[in-house]
Amino acid sequence: MYDPGASEVLTTLMEAGYEAYYVGGCVRDAVLGRPIKDIDIATSALPEQVIGIFQRTVPTGLQHGTVTVLIAQGAYEVTTFRKEAAYEGFRRPASVAYISDLTEDLRRRDFTMNAMAMDVAGVLQDPYDGQADLAAGVLRCVGIAEERFGEDALRMLRCIRFASTYGLEIEASTWQALLANAPLLRHIAMERVRSELQRMVEGPAPARAVRLLLASGLLAYLKKQLPLPFEAWLAWDDALDAVSALEGQHDRWAMLLMLLEVPADVVRAALQELTFSRVDGAAVAEVLALRDAVAAQAQVDDPAPLERVWKLGAVRRGEAAACALLRLLRELPQVEGKRGGLARFLTQTAPELLRRGEDWLKEVPCFSLKELAISGQDVAAALDRQPGPWMGRLLQDLLERAALGEIPNEREALIYAAQAAK
Ligand code: ATP
Ligand code: MG
Repeated sequence: MYDPGASEVLTTLMEAGYEAYYVGGCVRDAVLGRPIKDIDIATSALPEQVIGIFQRTVPTGLQHGTVTVLIAQGAYEVTTFRKEAAYEGFRRPASVAYISDLTEDLRRRDFTMNAMAMDVAGVLQDPYDGQADLAAGVLRCVGIAEERFGEDALRMLRCIRFASTYGLEIEASTWQALLANAPLLRHIAMERVRSELQRMVEGPAPARAVRLLLASGLLAYLKKQLPLPFEAWLAWDDALDAVSALEGQHDRWAMLLMLLEVPADVVRAALQELTFSRVDGAAVAEVLALRDAVAAQAQVDDPAPLERVWKLGAVRRGEAAACALLRLLRELPQVEGKRGGLARFLTQTAPELLRRGEDWLKEVPCFSLKELAISGQDVAAALDRQPGPWMGRLLQDLLERAALGEIPNEREALIYAAQAAK
């Protein structure tokens, strides 16, 4: 691993008489020949000594011994060797103690592949045989797995994340310990859970992550119970593999949640419990809301033509949601032998949508009020009426009629239609 800035930090610490190493994920990725993301540095120098050695520092995490060192090449996190005592809340240590021994520092780390250090010359320190485990494709806890998951339950999700994103087999006693400790996941904040799940879904093997999550039973022990029937993924196992063909986390989440066959409102609420951002949550839920609208229409006795339902849905849920739904349907596998609402939707409605949906969208002249050729002010002036709640309703009505081609998306025609509607 060669990073000019980091190696300057390491050298400066060593010249001051301390030990200093690259540690954690950057060493793992260097051993694997993968691109390095963030560099972590560990040292025997105490935080105040680190602050004394470098001209510019920021005490970013003093409670766990971390100082950020600022040099011309960038910012580097330097953490004093430490050990952790008596974990509390199944997440963090009650106290940390600074130590002078690298091997002790590496012992507190979660997996053998994350418990390696490298000096500035590139010599590996690997007391827990992380390199051998990596070579064998094995993910293994440092020390006794049963204890390590009991100390910090988040490690169970990191375990599944690393196994899926790095394509590793989980070593037997590590997996047994994960199964035994799964109920402890209840103690982990939903933000942390969400962040791990997002990284699994965005990673190279979302299907494997989902299968491991199901096999582990972890999802049953979330801090906030989500009303989602995760076992439904078992019935759509072949569709899970199609998820990786989709780009971007929004499409992937939409596909995974569509397979659970629950209404969009339930999904929306679950994503909120999972602390998804408003933007991320809406991007996913709107796709399912459009699916709901189209599927419901296909069930009634006198179905409005699919074209109309589709165009209206695209206006109400957004063009982005409509394009996303088409991408999902393109990737979904055959539904032979499957039953239920989704299977019906895929056999009855999806083929026609896949044939015509894209062209239908091209025919829609406006998807949003921004694209409507008339503004609220225009309408108020033309009707000589004070703005009020009536206006939003009228504009939406004009938008939908223009989108469907019932009136042209032109100023004169829209004003005329507004006057007629009054
Ligand atoms: P990535 O950044 O790709 O998620 P990483 O291994 O760098 O992987 P970080 O969360 O950045 O993960 O943590 C850096 C290092 O700190 C890890 O490699 C590991 O040694 C240690 N570590 C992080 N979280 C934990 C934890 N929950 N329990 C034990 N050690 C941990
Ligand atoms: Mg990292």
